[in-house]
Amino acid sequence: MKAFEATKYFFDQAAERLELSPAVREVLLMAKREVQVQVTIERDNGELATYVGFRVQHDNSRGPMKGGLRYHPEVNLDEVRSLASLMTWKTAVVDLPYGGAKGGIGVDPSLFSRRELERLTRAFVDQIHDIVGPDTDIPAPDMGTDFRVMSWFRNQWEKYHGFHPSVITGKPVEEYGAKGREEATGRGVGTLTLKLLKRMGKKNEKSRIAIQGFGNVGSHAAKFLSEAQCPIVAISDMSGTYYHADGLDINDMLRHSLTQPRGALTGYTKCEVLPIDSLLTLDDVDVLIPAALGGVITTNNADKISASVIIEAANGPILPLADKILHDRGVTILPDILANAGGVTVSYFEWVQNRQHYKWTLDRVRQELDRTMNSAFDSVWELAQQQDVSLRTAAFMIAIKRVRHAAILAGSLG
Ligand code: NAD
Repeated sequence: MKAFEATKYFFDQAAERLELSPAVREVLLMAKREVQVQVTIERDNGELATYVGFRVQHDNSRGPMKGGLRYHPEVNLDEVRSLASLMTWKTAVVDLPYGGAKGGIGVDPSLFSRRELERLTRAFVDQIHDIVGPDTDIPAPDMGTDFRVMSWFRNQWEKYHGFHPSVITGKPVEEYGAKGREEATGRGVGTLTLKLLKRMGKKNEKSRIAIQGFGNVGSHAAKFLSEAQCPIVAISDMSGTYYHADGLDINDMLRHSLTQPRGALTGYTKCEVLPIDSLLTLDDVDVLIPAALGGVITTNNADKISASVIIEAANGPILPLADKILHDRGVTILPDILANAGGVTVSYFEWVQNRQHYKWTLDRVRQELDRTMNSAFDSVWELAQQQDVSLRTAAFMIAIKRVRHAAILAGSLG
């Protein structure tokens, strides 16, 4: 199943509950604008190379569109379309005054030098600068992009349009970035994991956690949860699965990863090292946190997952038919549009600070993030209980209702 079809499947389950007509569903699902551009650069060896870049602007009923910029070989229009739509529902479920967008370039950034990456980013901005801006569409980091890419993006955009640091978020803290942005998604994942465990009457010390991915999201979630006394028994990254039945030493793993290229766990030996794919189906895990790629939980492995709770830190890690299998087995799933919304929430705080020329303290960022995430979780949890639906369907219902209401108020939906 393709990525957009999967998002549509989850959208439709909520739309059914809300009794939306087919015409309204079409308006809400279809992107407002989809742009595909040629991105040509000169490689360091002097050869010309051409790549395909995308920006999909899904919906702006609730405010300027917001969404990451991904550099990954599998970036394609269908995936970007799906991720742009997820951003609309994500910003709505945590009630930020934004719509949703997403962009990317189909490249493997690990094969590029720093200067090539800079040229690539600047060439992409040359193609799309007219359709993004602080009041229209605000990009941010995603897989394969980071604060350096955000800086180059801003610098190139400002050559056309003048000083406006709020054109992009996820910037370096010294250059109009927000304190706490880097940790935000992982911290949000951690906060909501603890909240969910509490609601389910489970103790932190008894909740054995496995995390797929030790990048930005996975590493910060692991640190937060281990500090809350949860045993993190397994972590995987591109180099393998690292397992310790009594719980891994997360600070030691973080220190080790800093010594490796691109933060990998390669060479970490103070635990068992298992095959990369074994993490999802380990048999002594209570909470599974996929924090790497989309589409990793499928009909092939859903039956073999032992965890009774799954926190979707990655975007779209569970495919629809696998979601049904897990739901029928009574597994509780905290959906991506809520679980990983911490990143876009602190991006919003960065945008607000840029516009006010005022800097918040890290404490203030964390407090506002925790408040936003907790409040969104409570609304989703209560609706799920009231309507006897999954947390995913409840989250989509809240988000769709907010977007529909804004579109009706603006007169664009009847
Ligand atoms: P990242 O590039 O920093 O880290 C990805 C991690 O996944 C790395 O540790 C990598 O080794 C690992 N990985 C890749 N393939 C793997 C595999 N097959 N098995 C196990 N591990 C594998 O990316 P990130 O920013 O942490 O993003 C992770 C996910 O979270 C993505 O789906 C992204 O869209 C989503 N997300 C990120 C943010 C954010 O603020 N960074 C916000 C919302 C959602």
